[in-house]
Amino acid sequence: MKSYDLVIVGCGIVGSAAAFYASRKNKKVLIIEKNFCGFNSSGNAQGGLAPYIYDNAEMIKFHTEAMSLHSELRNELQNFSPTDPFYVKKPYVRVAVNEDEANNFKEFLSISSKEDCFWYGENEIKKVESKLINAMYGGIFTENYFEVDSFNLTNSLKDAAINMGSKLINFDFRKENLITHKVNGHIRFEGVSLDKEKIHAENIIISSGPWTKEMLDNLMTVNVMPLKGQILRASSKEDLNISVSWGKDYVTKKQDGLLWLGTTEEDVGFDDSPTSDGKKMILDAFKSMFSGFSDLHVEKQTACLRPSSPENVPIIRESESIKGLYVSTGAGRNGIKLGPVLGKRVVDLINTN
Ligand SMILES: Cc1cc2nc3c(=O)[nH]c(=O)nc-3n(C[C@H](O)[C@H](O)[C@H](O)COP(=O)(O)OP(=O)(O)OC[C@H]3O[C@@H](n4cnc5c(N)ncnc54)[C@H](O)[C@@H]3O)c2cc1C
Repeated sequence: MKSYDLVIVGCGIVGSAAAFYASRKNKKVLIIEKNFCGFNSSGNAQGGLAPYIYDNAEMIKFHTEAMSLHSELRNELQNFSPTDPFYVKKPYVRVAVNEDEANNFKEFLSISSKEDCFWYGENEIKKVESKLINAMYGGIFTENYFEVDSFNLTNSLKDAAINMGSKLINFDFRKENLITHKVNGHIRFEGVSLDKEKIHAENIIISSGPWTKEMLDNLMTVNVMPLKGQILRASSKEDLNISVSWGKDYVTKKQDGLLWLGTTEEDVGFDDSPTSDGKKMILDAFKSMFSGFSDLHVEKQTACLRPSSPENVPIIRESESIKGLYVSTGAGRNGIKLGPVLGKRVVDLINTN
């Protein structure tokens, strides 16, 4: 029987990061993926590593650790994989959409240690991007914002893990594939049975994004649901000097030379089809904020599903009923930024148990 230290189900950014950090600890890893690495939101996200501007202490720790891991990955990932994640630093403004939000943002800046974030009034914002016409409440500005190519980062982590000895197989995993046995009154994970092959493994991580809850139905309660988001990729001769977000929406110019405009938040189950309503909503939101771009032409529309948890607080834990079975998911809108933390923390949790 083949034997692994760790099985990982789902090769989005969380699964590929878990495989990367486990491989660096010399663990023998098997990744099981139903579609392909970066199939869902990990391969289609905008890829912004936006500053966290709220006051949840647990989330502040997640975001601080995330930026430190991204900084390491930016410098070191090339030593493990030739796939370039395209980390790009650019100016960014988070526009307040009303006075209450402006006051919250200002209060956040006064108590936080984010020295690289500043309050900009309407005129200062217009100086950095004159086409941004609807910034009357001001916003938070930083020069120190990063974006990545989310598909490449996810695949780079996976490729790095494979270069260190991990294996990836294509398989539609179900809970019936889990093998468990009883030890001292506990049920323990023992391996997986795939078609006719049985594989022994010490531990398993389910990092199947929005599908995690259904996969573990009746075995473990995981409060995660799909939240659809759509993005338009559009061409225009006009340039955009900064990356901008407001409310749930944003626009930025990406590596491919296109403006990426987002987004929607739709509770429509596992339906991930792009819609004309979604396109209209995104274009209307963009036009309400910017002048110009009269030649804007939508080249591509995508839709994918975020793994959304209450308050977008990630879920990283071991099953209460099956020892050795772990989940890591639920980063919602911030999964590209937090993905490396979700992967690393679940691997660290296994090592401390
Ligand atoms: C429109 C949009 C824009 C976004 N923009 C940003 C952004 O700018 N910044 C940011 O930080 N985050 C962003 N996000 C959020 C981020 O993309 C997600 O939180 C993150 O990609 C989730 O990663 P994951 O690994 O948890 O899940 P997923 O990417 O969903 O990966 C799960 C994997 O599990 C596999 N799988 C499912 N079922 C099975 C099965 N039965 N057997 C085997 N494998 C299975 C799937 O095929 C998939 O590859 C955005 C999301 C959306 C939708």
